[in-house]
Amino acid sequence: MKVDLHTHTNASDGALSPEALVALARESGVTLLSVTDHDTAAGCPRAQKAAKEAGIAFIPGVELSVRWGGTVLHVVGLGIGPEDPLVVERFRETARLRAERGVKMGEAFEAIGLSGAYEGALARADSPLTLSRTHFAAWLLETGVVKNQQQAFDRYLGEGGPAYVEAPWPSLEEGVRFLLERGALPILAHPGRYRLRRGWEADAMIDAFLAAGGKGIEVTSGSQSEEANVHYAQVARGRKLLASTGSDWHSDRSPRPRPGCQPPLPPDLTPVWTLFGFS
Ligand code: AMP
Ligand code: MN
Ligand code: MN
Ligand code: MN
Repeated sequence: MKVDLHTHTNASDGALSPEALVALARESGVTLLSVTDHDTAAGCPRAQKAAKEAGIAFIPGVELSVRWGGTVLHVVGLGIGPEDPLVVERFRETARLRAERGVKMGEAFEAIGLSGAYEGALARADSPLTLSRTHFAAWLLETGVVKNQQQAFDRYLGEGGPAYVEAPWPSLEEGVRFLLERGALPILAHPGRYRLRRGWEADAMIDAFLAAGGKGIEVTSGSQSEEANVHYAQVARGRKLLASTGSDWHSDRSPRPRPGCQPPLPPDLTPVWTLFGFS
């Protein structure tokens, strides 16, 4: 089995349509796939259909943005119902907040003399409702303001940067509760990627996630270091957490591994997909 339970499509900030993402996953040899767009499951029905046609097992998913103190965390919800009316309604509201933030980010770019950022980002997104910092990064990159995507986040888009606009995401507790209520399994995404000031803060993050009802963590992720993969395998062992894995692939603009090409899970851990009937 080659598994990827964290990928993006152009329903959020991924470059490819759901069908094209599935085709790429197939090319890379993926046999079990989840599409986990930011704060929406709108790409899942089309991805699920394409996966079925390609003979790839599929779990619908989402990557929820939540707040934990001053830090934005991402929680993957595996098994979310993309057509569940309460899911659709909630993500419609979140998309409205995203659209409002996009406008404010455009104003922040204007204020520092980078005009046309909003229009540029919007031209690279599916709609104002899915506008992400990634789309602003793509504009900065393609217009030559920055040399690579990382620079776009370091200089402009990252927390505290001149174009950073805080988003009114739900709390960790509320987000996890929502996922559980809708029958989705909450998995802490790329735990090694958050900028936490001290070592103990990572332990506190895991404590808070579990207290909220979280069930597992991404042990190996294309968006965290190999060192973090090794560390979080130990955390999963020590705390008896379900283990998930995903490339977090968005596009070839970033140096992340292609779908399914992140390091595999250590074989002694309990993979989250056993709960979905896959072995
Ligand atoms: P948003 O949800 O619109 O605030 O955008 C967050 C997205 O930006 C993440 O999901 C990543 O895809 C991307 N991102 C955040 N930080 C970085 C970074 N340092 N380098 C590259 N992409 C990043
Ligand atoms: Mn993203
Ligand atoms: Mn993420
Ligand atoms: Mn992601």
